[in-house]
Amino acid sequence: MIHSQSQETSVVVVGSAAYDSIATPIGNKTDLLGGSAIYFSISSSYFTHVGIVAVVGKDFLKKHITLLQTHGINTEGLEIKTGKSFRWSGVYSTEDINTRTTLETNLNVFSDFSPILNPEYRNSPFLFLANIDPDLQSNVLSQMKKRPKMVALDTMNYWISSKNQSLKRILEKIDVVLMDEGEIRDLSKEANLTKAAQHVMNLGPSTVVIKRGEHGVLLFHGKSIFSAPSLPIDQVIDPTGAGDSFAGGFIGYLAATKDLGFDGLKRATVLGSVMGSFAVESFGPDKISTITHVDIEKRFRILSDISYFEPLNEKESIPISLS
Ligand code: AMP
Repeated sequence: MIHSQSQETSVVVVGSAAYDSIATPIGNKTDLLGGSAIYFSISSSYFTHVGIVAVVGKDFLKKHITLLQTHGINTEGLEIKTGKSFRWSGVYSTEDINTRTTLETNLNVFSDFSPILNPEYRNSPFLFLANIDPDLQSNVLSQMKKRPKMVALDTMNYWISSKNQSLKRILEKIDVVLMDEGEIRDLSKEANLTKAAQHVMNLGPSTVVIKRGEHGVLLFHGKSIFSAPSLPIDQVIDPTGAGDSFAGGFIGYLAATKDLGFDGLKRATVLGSVMGSFAVESFGPDKISTITHVDIEKRFRILSDISYFEPLNEKESIPISLS
């Protein structure tokens, strides 16, 4: 899909751009295009105009920049520095494909990443702070000219333990936090997910999204709760990037509709699940970068079909055994 490059950027993402080496029960692949900002921007590009802020080395292939540009992604904020791109390698468990172990993280040019937003990005109404150092996340937010309509954030266990206070400082200033269930339990020290979400909302964000892999997603917004299933997938090939693709669908939908009420957030959650389902169906972003709006709508409809049930009308009640 080709968007016009001239349209204004609605969503800015700051995060990693990487080459990943991955082992899953299906096989092994090296030097796959990856990184949180890459998955997020490709996913959200189906709904809105997104600008990417990340750093890569001179080894970053031209065809990968072209891939982003053919999705209409504004790549002005993709800095190319002397040195090698960030490299990450991980292995997924054969018993539980949702469990992964990091084998190696080579920060390379990412080690002194110091994102500077261009004047257009500073006016963006939506900002996604992907999983990076919380001090950098704060720095990026402070560069915004005016408070965006929505600031969302992702983080990981590494920052929860090593930069806990910095993370809490940025959480005070944002609207939406997206975490997986292990991460939110770590941050809140609560095993119960409802209590964990409440704990995190007390730290600042009004909306908490808990990603539970194949078990779906929980959305907490003030006192309201929504539960979305994940799409049943025949074969998960590589779960890398599912979380960032979820976030891309979620924020992309909100930026496109500007419906930030609970109904909008619910639909955004379902669309996030749809985008995550594409991400897991190939190694790297191959699948998510080659889908169409028809594919997306089909899965959106399937998700509402498989989770719809007839509500009780006012006169109905659940049958009670009289014996
Ligand atoms: P996800 O599967 O959505 O949690 O994100 C996976 C992506 O995160 C991979 O493509 C990696 O390149 C990237 N990644 C892994 N570790 C880090 C890290 N420490 N900082 C930033 N990005 C990372």
